[in-house]
Amino acid sequence: MSVISETQFSENVAALQPSATLAVSAKVRQLIAEGKDVLDLCVGEPDFPTPDFVREAGIQAIQNGKTRYTPAAGIPELRAAIAKDLERLSGNGRKFEGHGVVVTAGGKQALFNTIFSLFGPGDQVICPVPYWTTYPELVELARAKPLFVEGEESRSYKITPDDLERSYSSDVKGLIINSPSNPSGAVYSLDELRALAEWATERDVWIITDEIYRKIYFPERVAPSVFDLPEELTQKVVLVDGASKAFAMTGWRIGFTYSSRPLADKFAALQSQTTSNASSPAQYAALAAFQGGEQAEAEVEKMRQGFLRRRDLLTTLFRGKLPGVRYVHPEGAFYFFFSIESFTRPGEGSIAFCERILGESGVGLIPGIAFGQDDMARMSFAYSEDTLRSAIDRLSKAL
Ligand code: PLP
Repeated sequence: MSVISETQFSENVAALQPSATLAVSAKVRQLIAEGKDVLDLCVGEPDFPTPDFVREAGIQAIQNGKTRYTPAAGIPELRAAIAKDLERLSGNGRKFEGHGVVVTAGGKQALFNTIFSLFGPGDQVICPVPYWTTYPELVELARAKPLFVEGEESRSYKITPDDLERSYSSDVKGLIINSPSNPSGAVYSLDELRALAEWATERDVWIITDEIYRKIYFPERVAPSVFDLPEELTQKVVLVDGASKAFAMTGWRIGFTYSSRPLADKFAALQSQTTSNASSPAQYAALAAFQGGEQAEAEVEKMRQGFLRRRDLLTTLFRGKLPGVRYVHPEGAFYFFFSIESFTRPGEGSIAFCERILGESGVGLIPGIAFGQDDMARMSFAYSEDTLRSAIDRLSKAL
């Protein structure tokens, strides 16, 4: 027996699992490294490079000695620039204050700070299914319990107040909304968000709204936000967002929360005792991105158009070569979530299915079980059009 398996971990982490999506994509990368002919459609990051002017700002920051600790909540200029960007995007003229922003090491730390600060033993936090794989793990890390609520397929699995009400008990303290969604690409309209916020306000439930894909929205430049709602509906809301997806900056590790000041102060305190601050040069690079005005907008728009073209190509190919297979039509983000029901063998779940497809046709997919739905699989379309064409060809032959 290894030392690790003999170790008695604390209850804090005993049940903790490594990120399911990162684990599968590691396996795919290993096969590629071994020289296997594999098309990797697992990865959840833009394939575009970080914009030049942002990279340049990072280099300048290093050369100008911006390499020391910063305040735990982030450099004031970046907090102010993010607040200004939120104000610019806001549909209702709301004012955003720099002190409500806490800069984090990626959206993941923003989610961790929020969930760990707001929930604890005895609390339940609603995770609509399909959920991003990290949410239930973070809820469990806070020793609270995830409560899974599934919307109807005909509504792209988006939940309604009726769905919530059916699962509600007085233990429910939080609701995590992710729009545009990873893994489904579904996007809540402002009216749908209003209905959820009204329910949460009435039930005194916190909303954590993960809007990290907000700028990758196909019908318009920016998806509706919970903060577009009137202030009386956003008293108990924490916004999670970041630079990773919108500015193709996944490796720089810059995310943020926006919340009321007392909450922001608590998040900063938590961070000051755990990670101190997000990387200093990365904060200066993100400052260039958030302050980037027309230049930044043009870069974001170029990527949005690129993802839109691929979304259209992929849905056309899929309908043509795999007719009748059900999928969620992506309105945002860069994921395609489809049913594997008609392809699986008796007793075969989504993990075994994805392993079989990887072995037989060399296409790397993420099993739907990572998002709470074992009869689905996710492919990312953050890949070249040639890769997407070959992948659908291979899948249609295999299936
Ligand atoms: N939220 C969702 C829905 C995501 O898909 C991701 C990354 O895949 C994140 C948050 C975390 O982003 P980051 O890389 O900034 O930690």
